[in-house]
Amino acid sequence: KELIHNHSKLENHIKHEHIALPEITIFDKEMNMIANNFDIKNSDKAKQKYNKEVLKEHFNKVLQSQEDTTLHDKKNALLIKPMMHDGKIIAYVTSGYKSTVDAKMTAINQTFLYMFFVIIFTVFIISNFVIIFALKLLYPLELLLDGIKNINSGNLSFIIKKTTDDELGVVVNAVNDMTLKRKQIEDELRDMAIRDGLTGLYNHKFFYTFLENEIVRGDRYDHSISMLLIDIDHFKGVNDTYGHRAGDTILRELSKRLMKRARTTDTVCRYGGEEITVILLETDIAVAQIIAEELRLLIEKDSFLIEDGRYIPITVSIGISDYNKEAKKTSIIVSNADSALYEAKERGRNQICVFKENVEGRNEEGEK
Ligand code: GH3
Ligand code: MG
Ligand code: MG
Repeated sequence: KELIHNHSKLENHIKHEHIALPEITIFDKEMNMIANNFDIKNSDKAKQKYNKEVLKEHFNKVLQSQEDTTLHDKKNALLIKPMMHDGKIIAYVTSGYKSTVDAKMTAINQTFLYMFFVIIFTVFIISNFVIIFALKLLYPLELLLDGIKNINSGNLSFIIKKTTDDELGVVVNAVNDMTLKRKQIEDELRDMAIRDGLTGLYNHKFFYTFLENEIVRGDRYDHSISMLLIDIDHFKGVNDTYGHRAGDTILRELSKRLMKRARTTDTVCRYGGEEITVILLETDIAVAQIIAEELRLLIEKDSFLIEDGRYIPITVSIGISDYNKEAKKTSIIVSNADSALYEAKERGRNQICVFKENVEGRNEEGEK
């Protein structure tokens, strides 16, 4: 107590090291233990703890150099602080407690810190993998679901983007293939419903639907519409002479010629039998006559080749009518074209004829 009280260095040392239970031992200059606050003098413990030779060496070094040096005896977990008191006593302070615990705590803390970083790093790596995996899986899945929604809403031209070659990529390919096939079948069915099987021209039903729609549009926007009714001359005779098959071939070839010449705005339909209609949009009756005459010449100009190698000359008669204030209904326009066709037949066939009431007061140049 006296030592601690009187010696500020020792007091500072105890405070500085936060020694809870300082063990203070007093030696003489020969390193013999004189006193100890735990009274371990002459005990085995004292002998074990304080190696005379080691202490001597260290104490001398410190005392000679007058340096305030603390000796850490890690083996015995001691903190040794030698000091001169009254020129003859060496104070020997030990604790070792705090330093050892500190060292151990530091080691434990370091281990915890290390483990903490390892765990954080592992979690980070795993979450990255999970995110990458999820994105890799979710993105193509989203594209697939989006595509299916699009296709189901009727957009059969939609192609789902393939981003992976895995099982999902196979599914995307399969869905795209199925959609393409479904579109092809639907297109074929739609085509079959509106086209004639023999000639490939639009059919009778399509003709009426189309003309009716165009009349509505023509009425609203004041567009002109004309129609041609084409009938092959003496076709029954052709069938009787060359056979029905030859008749079919001619009908097919004749349709091809008409289609080839038709403008994109012209709609060529098989009205029935060997009768063909052409709907001419944005075309008044004068232009319709010119077109009709062109088509008539187109058929007359070159004979038709049949299977046995013979060329058969064919002519057509064409009746022309148009949509006008007296003829606003499909049935009337068709009936007018039919009347004009009848007139053309009456006049000797292989010619065009404009419906009478329309012809009146108009240029009849087109008629042969
Ligand atoms: P015209 O019109 O000049 O008065 O004489 P036509 O002999 O052509 O008389 P009509 O128009 O009344 O006869 C139509 C004939 O067309 C009857 C039929 O033999 C033939 N025909 C109609 N459709 C087809 C077909 O799909 N194939 C073939 N080969 N012949 C057909
Ligand atoms: Mg006929
Ligand atoms: Mg005929």
